[in-house]
Amino acid sequence: TFGTSKSVALYERAKHVMPAGNTRHTVFRTPHQIYAERGEGCRIIDIDGNSRIDAVGNFTSLIHGYGSEAIKAAAREQLEKGFSFGMATPGEVRLSEILVERLPSVEHVRYCNSGTEAVMNAVKVARAFTGRAKIAKCEGAYHGAYDVVETSQEARPENWGDVDAPNPVPTAAGTPQGVLDDVVIIPFNNVELGEKILGAKGNDLAGVLIDVMPNRAGLVPATPEFLEMLRRVTKEIGALLIFDEVITFRLGYSGAQGRYGINPDVTALGKIIGGGFPIGAVAGRKDVMAVYDPSNGAPKVQHGGTFSANPMSMIAGIAAMEALTSEAFAHLEALGDRFETKITALFEELVTEAQVTGMASLRRIHLNKAELSDFRSTVLAGADGAKKVAALARLLFDEGVIIAANGLVCFSTPMTFGDIDEIIAAFARALPKLSEV
Ligand code: PMP
Repeated sequence: TFGTSKSVALYERAKHVMPAGNTRHTVFRTPHQIYAERGEGCRIIDIDGNSRIDAVGNFTSLIHGYGSEAIKAAAREQLEKGFSFGMATPGEVRLSEILVERLPSVEHVRYCNSGTEAVMNAVKVARAFTGRAKIAKCEGAYHGAYDVVETSQEARPENWGDVDAPNPVPTAAGTPQGVLDDVVIIPFNNVELGEKILGAKGNDLAGVLIDVMPNRAGLVPATPEFLEMLRRVTKEIGALLIFDEVITFRLGYSGAQGRYGINPDVTALGKIIGGGFPIGAVAGRKDVMAVYDPSNGAPKVQHGGTFSANPMSMIAGIAAMEALTSEAFAHLEALGDRFETKITALFEELVTEAQVTGMASLRRIHLNKAELSDFRSTVLAGADGAKKVAALARLLFDEGVIIAANGLVCFSTPMTFGDIDEIIAAFARALPKLSEV
């Protein structure tokens, strides 16, 4: 068992100065926080000196874990030169060149500081380019905290509405009705209903926003048919297709769009492209991104940001991307495949009602055997399963492995097959204890 006395004492102080002693719901723990002190390779050492394998990677952003000497060396060098300037820096040019080279649909790039901002910018680009207001998104998909896109993530079926006309359900209390009026919700992976709903809103739609493997909606990949429908219909109605690749860029050298062979008009990026430092980017076709161009008078969209394109994030991002070779992606893919094979065998051996979704370096554990196709099926299948998965994550934490509370497991380049086997061994110890929880 792990000692916690330093974390307990620190949390006592935290409760006086932060609501519930915490600043990110995604890392909130009861009865107290566990505070990280440092990272090494794919491991986190907490302030009480306990070491655990990190299969969260700061929510998928640390694709090289904590061990990349190249990222550290680049960041150290930039630190000495200066960490932010009210001036452009060379790093933004190089990182953009890398992104343009990798992403088939991307010609121009602009930076911000988070995935939330990246999606917000993508929405503004679509509205400015089309002169329309409405944005469509898939039910249950998470796209950050911008009020337009954080709708319809509530796990309470009584608020959902009919499947062929899903309600835009507000997430934050006090969300204005005006915001909801401009959101159109479509069911994920439902070609027929999606086409019908989008067609009906036709001339009012600025863009359709899609994460092709939405984590909170189940981490089920989109079908090629669904994406082809979105590409075709957005073209027909004159709306932009926006890919949220804040997470899915880690699915391969050319992101999810490369994997599927579908070119969106706009792409939102974040997480891995900053090498572990704060970042977001909005990217896309030249004529679309021209809404930001100020060279012929006032641009259609204003965009600044005190820390946008700050050189620490640019330099670390360049080092991270350069290390993400085809071989690195093949390694990540092999880690994911080994995990899937071994965890599936373990579930069978222990007769655990469970399954795993996802692909490549991203997998999600579900403690049910229902057919998961979208947000509704995931929520309904896991009515109490979600609580069980959270309990399993806690048991794993005590066995030395960190996964997300919703069952997301994420792999990083410093991991070896031995680390995957250690993760599986922790599952083997934790799963039998689940019935006692
Ligand atoms: N889009 C997706 C698909 C995400 O998963 C996230 C964050 N998990 C965001 C956007 C928001 O990114 P950030 O937390 O950097 O604001």
